Amino acid sequence: MAITLPTLPYEAHALAPYISADTLGFHHGKHHQTYVTNVNNLILGSDLSDAPLEEIIKSSANKPEKAAIFNNAAQVWNHTFYWHSMKSGGGGAPSGAIAAKINEDFGSYEAFVEAFKSAGATQFGSGWAWLVLENGTLKVTKTSNADTPMVHAQKALLTADVWEHAYYLDYQNRRADYLDIFLKHLVNWEFAQSNLLA
Ligand code: MN
Repeated sequence: MAITLPTLPYEAHALAPYISADTLGFHHGKHHQTYVTNVNNLILGSDLSDAPLEEIIKSSANKPEKAAIFNNAAQVWNHTFYWHSMKSGGGGAPSGAIAAKINEDFGSYEAFVEAFKSAGATQFGSGWAWLVLENGTLKVTKTSNADTPMVHAQKALLTADVWEHAYYLDYQNRRADYLDIFLKHLVNWEFAQSNLLA
């Protein structure tokens, strides 16, 4: 198997009560695992069978005949990135270089919060809210389904999964509440800053 399911960077109960062990268990053990299984089946015996994940994503993007490969490979990457975007005891306003850059490009942390919550809440159907770096400037974006910043010449710094499976067991239909909690209690700003500085 070329692509493997990474372990969660924390215990399944580490983000409770904000994201339950049930949600993380299904999300990582079932949803993320299924994308890994699917992409491995799809690349088996092809010229991508030994390719790194990012190469699989980039080489299948915007190719209708490779949509299934792209969708599953990008979802493997997006989920791994999402696990690292959260931590126990996270959230709230950042400090350091990422805080200065947010103030410079959004005007204030509060303006960033409003932009991120709006992006996640207005993504119609399944998708992702992102903080990205594009041409040296921070931007908040949203993508549908499996779409991912690396195929839009953007460097991802932080993401929130807004597929219903990410929050339905804990928040039912209240996506805005999940996004509010994500920003207040879960964001791993050290991860975002390390992506900014990398
Ligand atoms: Mn998901």
